[in-house]
Amino acid sequence: MGLLDRLTSLFSPKPSKEADDAIHIYVECGRCKSAVHVRLDKRHDLSQGEAGGYFVRKEIMDSKCFRLMTAEITLDSGYRVQAQDLQGGRFLSKEEFEAATPSGVDPRRPGS
Ligand SMILES: [Zn+2]
Repeated sequence: MGLLDRLTSLFSPKPSKEADDAIHIYVECGRCKSAVHVRLDKRHDLSQGEAGGYFVRKEIMDSKCFRLMTAEITLDSGYRVQAQDLQGGRFLSKEEFEAATPSGVDPRRPGS
C-alpha cells in the first residue's frame, strides 16, 4: 500500500502552471469566408527570426473549399505579433472568429 502511494505520487507530476505552448490565430478564407482556427506550437512551428524574435510561415486550409492560404507572422521574443500577412484570406480577431462560428453549431450549416 505504501509502495503504491509512492508510485502514484511519482507518476502524477503536478505542473505548477499549465503554460500554453501555443499561439492561436484565426483566419477567414478569401473565397468561401470560412473561419479557421490555427494553433501554432511555439516549439515546433516557430523559427528563430531576426533580433531575437520568431518567424512562422504556415499553410492553412479551410474545411469548406480547401483553398490553401499562407500565413507569415513575425513575433518578438515575447511572442507578440509584430507583423502578419495572409495570402488567400484575411486575419480575424478572436472575437470575429467566435462570432463567425457560434459554439456548438456547425459553421458549415446550410444557408450561411
Ligand atoms: Zn475556403
